[in-house]
Amino acid sequence: MDLSQDIKSARLFPSTPEMIDPFGRAITYLRVSVTDRCDFRCVYCMAEDMTFLPKRDLLTLEELDRLCSAFVDKGVRRLRLTGGEPLVRKNVMHLVRGLSRHLVAGTLDELTLTTNGSQLSRFAGELADCGVKRLNVSLDTLDPAKFKSITRWGELDRVLAGIRAAQAAGIKVKLNAVALKDFNEDEIPSMIEWAHGEGMDLTLIETMPMGEIDEDRTDRYLPLSAVRRSLAERYTLSEIGYRTGGPARYVEVAETGGRLGFITPMTHNFCESCNRVRVTCTGTLYMCLGQEDAADLRTPLRASEGDELLSRAIDEAIGRKPKGHDFVIDRTTSRPSVSRHMSVTGG
Ligand code: SAM
Ligand code: SF4
Repeated sequence: MDLSQDIKSARLFPSTPEMIDPFGRAITYLRVSVTDRCDFRCVYCMAEDMTFLPKRDLLTLEELDRLCSAFVDKGVRRLRLTGGEPLVRKNVMHLVRGLSRHLVAGTLDELTLTTNGSQLSRFAGELADCGVKRLNVSLDTLDPAKFKSITRWGELDRVLAGIRAAQAAGIKVKLNAVALKDFNEDEIPSMIEWAHGEGMDLTLIETMPMGEIDEDRTDRYLPLSAVRRSLAERYTLSEIGYRTGGPARYVEVAETGGRLGFITPMTHNFCESCNRVRVTCTGTLYMCLGQEDAADLRTPLRASEGDELLSRAIDEAIGRKPKGHDFVIDRTTSRPSVSRHMSVTGG
């Protein structure tokens, strides 16, 4: 009898996923924002003058580990660390190293990060060593001056060096670019060609109305349906079933042989297949990126050393996961749909 096959299939299809929401969706994906701080201030994400959480409100790295591990015990198979910028959290590699034990034990299929890439040169080797096989790096332009203006002070060269370091360490990098009107609209074809030439998938994201920023998002909003139409005039795009567990839908670009993803929270609601929830660095659980409802997990986490209270609080929260978001972006709606910034729950 081939036991290894049984073990493998049990891992891929856990027979009783323990977290099922009211709409029958199994929750198997957790995104954890390990800090709300960042070394960039991307104009669509943050105001220039941001007030960050006082450090005393943050969960310690040990508490974050306990929280993530409780979710793994309850059937989470994929874990993504994000932020803010996850790699600016002090000693973050201690957390990554600790969580990698679940990969070794086979109770977790994937441990990944979403990063702006600024610190990757420093951490790529250690991330690979901890079993991180894929990374999402956010990059909205390949023009150094534009990069500086969109991030307010980021250095493109550092990010490119970080991407190269990750690739050299054997990590597969996927690029994420927010599509912004009058900013990178015309650059999208050259970004596709560059990314695919370097062996990376590229995913385009629609800007979402989250948190007050210094400008009017309506001025920058670029529906991806329009981007896709114009790309289809230049390239042969064919729908493929490729999925990475996230909300992106992929096409293959025949001319480059690479994959292009579209994340369309505004023009196409992808909530029906949502398998994820998000925890912030203060232990607040958001059942939906686009809704305000949340559950405090820090109190039950700290209330006892065992995980019983925590587990109950998680179950109670999953029981109210909403069907989906309803983002609105137009000039008549002056306030963002969701008051918290994207850097609170991460991407
Ligand atoms: N700092 C890391 C980074 O930039 O990759 C991780 C956190 S960042 C909040 C995660 C992703 O969210 C990035 O790809 C960023 O471009 C995207 N993002 C931030 N604000 C957004 C918004 N209002 N709408 C759409 N995407 C946004
Ligand atoms: Fe920082 Fe990422 Fe937000 Fe840019 S998108 S400000 S890198 S958290």
